[in-house]
Amino acid sequence: MVVPYKHEPFTDFTVEENKQLMLDALQKVEADLGKEYPLIIGGERVTTEDKIVSVNPANKNEVVGHVSKANKELAEKAMQVADETFETLWRKSDPKFRADILFRAAAIVRRRKHEFSAHLVKEAGKPWKEADADTAEAIDFFEYYGRQMLKIKDGVEINSRPIEYNQFNYIPLGVGLVISPWNFLFAIMAGTTAAAMVTGNTVLLKPASSTPVIAYKFMEVLEEAGLPAGVVNYIPGSGSEVGDYLVDHPRTRFVSFTGSREVGTRIFERAAVVHEGQKWLKRTIIEMGGKDTIVVDNESDLELAAQSIVQSAFGFSGQKCSACSRAVIHEDVYDQVKDRVVELTNELSAGNPYDNSHFMGPVIDQGAYDKIMSYIEIGKNEGELLAGGTGDDSTGWFINPTVFGDLDPNARIMQEEIFGPVVGLTKAKDFDHAIEIANNTEYGLTGAVITNNRSHLEQARRDFHVGNLYFNRGCTAAIVGYQPFGGFNMSGTDSKAGGPDYLIQHMQGKTTSEMF
Ligand code: GLU
Repeated sequence: MVVPYKHEPFTDFTVEENKQLMLDALQKVEADLGKEYPLIIGGERVTTEDKIVSVNPANKNEVVGHVSKANKELAEKAMQVADETFETLWRKSDPKFRADILFRAAAIVRRRKHEFSAHLVKEAGKPWKEADADTAEAIDFFEYYGRQMLKIKDGVEINSRPIEYNQFNYIPLGVGLVISPWNFLFAIMAGTTAAAMVTGNTVLLKPASSTPVIAYKFMEVLEEAGLPAGVVNYIPGSGSEVGDYLVDHPRTRFVSFTGSREVGTRIFERAAVVHEGQKWLKRTIIEMGGKDTIVVDNESDLELAAQSIVQSAFGFSGQKCSACSRAVIHEDVYDQVKDRVVELTNELSAGNPYDNSHFMGPVIDQGAYDKIMSYIEIGKNEGELLAGGTGDDSTGWFINPTVFGDLDPNARIMQEEIFGPVVGLTKAKDFDHAIEIANNTEYGLTGAVITNNRSHLEQARRDFHVGNLYFNRGCTAAIVGYQPFGGFNMSGTDSKAGGPDYLIQHMQGKTTSEMF
């Protein structure tokens, strides 16, 4: 028996001892910078000449690691290994054995928690608090999915007539391709891999090209936790080469992807094509973007509203698909909320997260920097620039937290996902109007409502069409097993990571009926 699941507590870095532990961990991680990392296929280390260079986005000259890069041939080799390992070993493995690997992985990461967080500070430019939350979430996924597997391992109760014995069980699917994002480079990478693996599938793990080193470190954790060779194979590589090849592959049974809408849609379309020799329709589990809204009613705690907007918009530089990128504010309180949002935003700064002295770190790379800065230019024509609007990409990719006011709900700033520290404010005539504006998006991931009006909360519960709806708080920071996470419409395939029905999406139900 395992103890009931509880989420991993966050670290308070105002406590001197914790601060010191993190500084020590950062030093330890610094000693590892610039190392080489091979691919891992069937447990074997494979070094390629062609490399992915992972850099610290807060300091472009600092190389986090040189990572071997898979090509089609190596992807094919990994597929063969994963296919064979599934057939000969993993599909027949004991679910408890698989869950135990995750429990051990949780213990290993917990023991070296700050070291992992320090790595996230370096590889993704995460502020300490965000890095700590990312590591805690990875631990949560292991603990939660391990327990979920134990819950479903014996199937679901069904009826039998006196002359028969019926059973209903979930069995694994086959080889899963996991393509993970750079923003929750540890939690989502490890969580999506853990879910696919613990359900009895074998995995081809292709981490985001900007953050591949953490995935190598995760592979080491899995090995230490007793995962047999070939179950999870580590194959960083380019999306257009390795990604497309494996999405199209007839032996790929499912694809689990978290990332941009552009890539998610591409994967969904490609996975729908049945290739020669393919015996199934591929399953896709896809989590894409958001255009997430905080609605502020007139009868509400305005300080809470402003704090929620600022925290949700600028945590990790707005690079969360859950980030607040629009605030819809009742016209009676618009000016007050706007002024306070601007005041709070002006207190924040973006800088190197190394010493924890800034609320925000950098954005992930030059492409992101250029895209966000071009949206800031668009915003200047569409609304009023109230705060920020500036950036500096000389040493790292820093953009100051930016607020635009008086936007039309159909402005590009209000419709398109920017994935950076930019929030747009708009006025609503009344609560109905606010919900209408909030739903005026192709996405449907997160949203929040700040109000003291009970009937408005109930109206939002019914009509605000998002997968994660929060009342009187911000719209980020879902916790595994507490707020299952995932969105509607163009935010993905309606799956809920960290929720009770997540694992069975990696499985298929099998009915057996025996007459006697
Ligand atoms: N689960 C995270 C949150 O609730 C966001 C995940 C993402 O950005 O992909 O903030």
